[in-house]
Amino acid sequence: MAQRTVDEQSPPTGVATQTARRRSFAVISHPDAGKSTLTEALALHARAISEAGHVHGKSGRRHTVSDWMDMEQARGISITSASLQLMYRDTVINLVDTPGHADFSEDTYRVLAAVDSAVMLVDAAKGLEAQTMKLFAVCKHRGIPITTVINKWDRPGREALELMDEITERTGLTPTPLTWPVGIAGDFRGVLDRRTGQYVRFTATAGGASIAPEEVMDPEVAATREGEAWETAAEESELLAAAGAEHDQETFLAGISTPVLFAAAVRNFGVHALLDVLVDLAPPPGPRPAVDGGARAVEDPFSAFVFKMQAGMDTAHRDRLAFARVCSGVFERGMVVTSARTGKPFATKYAQQAFGRDRSVVDEAYPGDVVGLVNAASLQVGDTLYLDKPVEFPPLPTFAPEHFATVRAKDAGRYKQFRRGIAQLEAEGVVQVLRSGLRGDQAPVLAAVGPMQFEVAQHRMASEFNAPVELEPLGYSLALRTTGQWAERLTAERDVEVLRRESGELLALFPGQWRVRSVQRTHPDVVLEPLVAA
Ligand code: GDP
Repeated sequence: MAQRTVDEQSPPTGVATQTARRRSFAVISHPDAGKSTLTEALALHARAISEAGHVHGKSGRRHTVSDWMDMEQARGISITSASLQLMYRDTVINLVDTPGHADFSEDTYRVLAAVDSAVMLVDAAKGLEAQTMKLFAVCKHRGIPITTVINKWDRPGREALELMDEITERTGLTPTPLTWPVGIAGDFRGVLDRRTGQYVRFTATAGGASIAPEEVMDPEVAATREGEAWETAAEESELLAAAGAEHDQETFLAGISTPVLFAAAVRNFGVHALLDVLVDLAPPPGPRPAVDGGARAVEDPFSAFVFKMQAGMDTAHRDRLAFARVCSGVFERGMVVTSARTGKPFATKYAQQAFGRDRSVVDEAYPGDVVGLVNAASLQVGDTLYLDKPVEFPPLPTFAPEHFATVRAKDAGRYKQFRRGIAQLEAEGVVQVLRSGLRGDQAPVLAAVGPMQFEVAQHRMASEFNAPVELEPLGYSLALRTTGQWAERLTAERDVEVLRRESGELLALFPGQWRVRSVQRTHPDVVLEPLVAA
């Protein structure tokens, strides 16, 4: 949990200095694109300072450091995620983990509110996949700058130019490759560094277990050495230049263009280049907009917001761990801060639990860092914490759910506990709760981004609120925003239902996009809006 931010080499002081040397990012990718492998490779090339919670979940590469819930232990996966802190070139890099696979959930999206940039990791053979596109949509909505990494270039895949076209067409971003592969996918020899014109040749190490040596050569040497592979790379790079695909810092920061790198994470190829891009190009934490229309400057007194809650070891005591991103000032262990939502004080302590290997608790954190706060049962996802000067950050958005199920108490006599539990889970953002007059309060609809959220809800209803529940999946997979005037006509349609969020907003649920199209054909005037973020 503890974030060791003490720089052992040359301790610079002051919040502005510490903020300027911080980069916080998340990887957006589809399962199997190589996120865990890349994380591992980054940790090999940069010095890991601390690990908050669990980062690596597979292949037994490293043991899981947080097994908080029984369920989590049983399944060997992490339900909620945390962050990994690395030191590279005197820069503190926070990699905030985005849960994927079976644990893909609203938390995955919320992580994107805690970072200043994202790395879009793409499998060279598969291109842009579904989960990547969903996460991209949230990044785009938030205006987060994106660096693209084309991974697995050591394996047969698509052509590099074709991948660039796909990025342009499907994301609207202008790809501006910083490196260009020498050798087709499956024959990865190195990259042409388009900024220097030089050839960076990769040399494989056994199993990719250690840092792969890179040799930098002049173009003439590269041409002699690699022949046609070099010529092709140089020609394609010129084509890109002619098309204006050159890095532009302003459009990158504005989320209009995306620098592209080619890599093979499993061999540690291209990993240095990514770290360099993070340090040289990715933005440091900046002022954060507040609900009052102003912004919290990084030098202002301490502030942070909670982007994730995790149940503690001892569910009987409702222990909660809150992960908060520092937005301004210095976080000092033991400091008493105010929760903007309740106006109540919150005494901070780092988690005392020992995580992983030898790791000392460190006492300070700066903007961009993630802190794990224990005994946080009074906090909720989206809460703002501050010291001295009050501030409140806008609430985290709720995201478009794709899984729906009715929930009801197994024991009708426990309706009071049931209602309290559902309200609590809703307030915490564990699941979304949708209601309608037709369904009544006994069996509201739970809505989630990932089915894991249902399991967490079910588990907590039984273990914590003493109200075991039954879930019945509904055949919907899509929710669109609508308004009261259309509700009646939509409800009259087969396989369509209109439900109300706590906020009063109405969502029309459909079994799939095909049904949306047919309903729109019948009722061209009915307004249905996509729901990336509210
Ligand atoms: P994640 O689901 O995105 O975390 O993906 P993993 O990191 O677990 O990788 C999925 C699979 O792809 C594993 O078998 C990796 O060894 C493999 N993989 C990851 N990166 C590369 C790469 O650069 N080249 C090749 N050939 N395989 C890779």
